[in-house]
Parts: sequence; structure tokens; C-alpha cells
Amino acid sequence: MHPRGPDCTRVGRLIGTPIGRRNLAVAHPADPITAESDGCARRCSAAIVCGVGQREYRGNRVAAGLRPGEVASDVYRVASRRVNCYLVRDGSSLTLIDSGLPRHWAGIAAACRSLGLDVSSIRTVLLTHVHSDHAGTAEQVRSSGHATVQLHAADAELVDGRTRRRNERGVLAYLWRPAAIATLLELAVGGGLRMPAITDYLTIGDGEILEVPGRPTVVHLPGHTKGSLGFVLADRGVCFSGDALVTWNLLTGRRGPQLLAGGFMEDSRAGIESLSRLAMLNTHVLLPGHGEPWHGPISEAVAHARSVGRT
Ligand SMILES: [Zn+2]
Ligand SMILES: [Zn+2]
Repeated sequence: MHPRGPDCTRVGRLIGTPIGRRNLAVAHPADPITAESDGCARRCSAAIVCGVGQREYRGNRVAAGLRPGEVASDVYRVASRRVNCYLVRDGSSLTLIDSGLPRHWAGIAAACRSLGLDVSSIRTVLLTHVHSDHAGTAEQVRSSGHATVQLHAADAELVDGRTRRRNERGVLAYLWRPAAIATLLELAVGGGLRMPAITDYLTIGDGEILEVPGRPTVVHLPGHTKGSLGFVLADRGVCFSGDALVTWNLLTGRRGPQLLAGGFMEDSRAGIESLSRLAMLNTHVLLPGHGEPWHGPISEAVAHARSVGRT
């Protein structure tokens, strides 16, 4: 156990605000980091669970909150409270599907080490879309090893880190909700207010089968962004849906399969049409960009999302 220091106190204050703690405790009652505000020993155990050493933990508190776990055969979810990315393993090679927030870098590196590998084992970074909570470490992974970053051409204009697109509603309309405030806080703490530029990438399109670990098939799912993609591992019945279909609404706090709220959607109508494409897939493990994995035919997840509608 490391000695209590100023960093511990600051984390406690940060995640222990009345709004954040109430919301997060409901979301993750068993999470040793979020379930309390100032218990140093319990944070140490969280660091050990996620494979991050004490020194590194003190150096990167955000990364220490990431928790890796196997969610399908050779598929590992690396998750903070609200943000998921995934590692797909094929022997000593990895595909990273989405790359988390900028400050998730050390957590992703730790997840690779927990598999007996390192970040240079990541051969490919597949981006479901170019937002800072999905592409935040893409450039760092790319420049630290031999990984290629792949994304849809319709999101390529966002890789400079400066170009922004309007969503159909403003986020301000949601700020009366504790869930929205807690989400924006987590994005800010994770460095997500700015998207780090990606200087080299390949574009991929609908229907392509990628010859990278996992052999994912690309599915174009516009709506959240124009270039949103899903990736399907046909042999494992797995669909990575990014933000095209999530199981946790970041702005309302609602759980279960659904579209994100309008404050995080470029075009909800297109997003609903993309649900039809997802419903045709033959998969039974849904791995979203936000929220818990969902098990069952994806057509049922889509039916649930349709019943929720736009929010
Ligand atoms: Zn997004
Ligand atoms: Zn997202």
C-alpha cells in the first residue's frame, strides 16, 4: 500500500463531489475507485486489479482506473467508468478497437502487459469514429510502435484535432442531469476536451474484411458521426458498435441498448437507419463504446433501442 499523499486527496475531492459520487455509485457499486472518496488502501487494490504498479498509478491516476477483462474469446474490454476500448488478440499480435481518452494511454499499456505483451504488439488501431474518447491515444499508439490507424473517410476531416462538427442538439440542454455533468467531468479529467491529431492513417469502408488480428468485417453506421463504423468478428459472433449503439446514455444516464442522446448525435435519423443494418447482423455479443457488454441476438438490442427512440 502506498502512503497517502496529496494525489490521493485530490482524487478523492475530484470524484467525491455530491453529484458525481451519487451517480457513479449507482453505476458501479462494486467499483473500488468510485464507491468511495478517500480510502487510500482501496485505491491501491484497484491499481493491482488493473495491473498498474504503484509508481505508475501515482503518475497517472486516470489510467489506473481502467479495468481489463475478457469479454469474448481473445477479446478484452479495457474500460474506464464510461469509456470502453477493446483488445483483440491473435497470438502475439493485437488489434486495438478504439483507443480511449488521451490519458488512457498508460492503462492500455498496462492491459497489454497483463496479456504478456506490450504496446508494440498492437498492429492495428481501428477507430469506430474520430472523437477524443475513441481516438484519444491513437497517435501515441501509432508512433510508439508499428501500428496503423484505420478509420472511415467520412471522419477523416476530424483527425487534425481542430475540426468540429455540430451535433443536432447542444449539450447545454442536458446539464441539469447529474449524468451529463459526471460524463463531462470524466471526459475532461481524461484529457478529452481536445482531440490529439492523427498524422498518418488508412481509410476503410463498408464490407471490407480486414487482414488484422480478429479479421473484423467493417460495417458503416452513420448517425453519431458521418464516418461511424462497427466491426464484426464473425467467427465469435461479436459486434463492436462504437457509439452507433450503446448501452449507457452518457447524457441521460439511462441503461440498456439505445442511441446516444441528441447532444452527442450528428444525425439521429441516420442513426436510426443504421440500426437496421445492425439488426441484420448475426451476432450475439454487443460490445459498445459506452456501457456494459450486451448478450443476445443483436436484433433484440436494436428492438430495445428503437423502443427507447431519440432522447
Ligand atoms: Zn463519439
Ligand atoms: Zn463515445
